[in-house]
Amino acid sequence: MDHETPVYLHQLPVPGEDRYASLALVNTRFTVSHGRVDLLDDTEAAHLWLVRHALLSDGVPLNGRQSGRLRALREALRALFAARADGLPPSADALDTLNTALAAAPATPRLAWGAEGPRRADVPDSGNPAAAALSLLAEDATDLLTGADADQLTECAAQGCARWFLRSHGARRWCTTKCGNRVRAARAYAARKAGSP
Ligand SMILES: [Zn+2]
Repeated sequence: MDHETPVYLHQLPVPGEDRYASLALVNTRFTVSHGRVDLLDDTEAAHLWLVRHALLSDGVPLNGRQSGRLRALREALRALFAARADGLPPSADALDTLNTALAAAPATPRLAWGAEGPRRADVPDSGNPAAAALSLLAEDATDLLTGADADQLTECAAQGCARWFLRSHGARRWCTTKCGNRVRAARAYAARKAGSP
């Protein structure tokens, strides 16, 4: 048995991922100092990611076609986030991929009424759990893109990082302090090099 700690547990939390699973999905592909990381690079990894984000039960299998759709949705979301941040229309393909995921297995809207009062408690489509997980992610992205938080959507400015986050204040340009430190160190190195004879 391999008990090595998964690489993403070493990562600092990226602002917004705790509130939007779609943001966490986009950030499953990123670059660290020793190279590129893809947390969904095979079907088993994609299954683990969905289970860890409470989008799929552990006992429900995921096949290669479904994990391929999850990766395709991730790339579409990345393109849609970029379009929103740039104020440009997205590609028809990206929009179509999101809308296909939305429509594949939408949750049934439902109002629950407990001791704390009324709350929304949509019921996922249990007949098609993998498609339902993708529908939930697509809906989460739709909420993000159309809500007040959309103005805060920012791609990390650190070279090659490629993660997206919700900016908490105007000045922040890096997803984590780690990325900020990396950029500052690179700048200091470049300045030293330029200054040397
Ligand atoms: Zn970053």
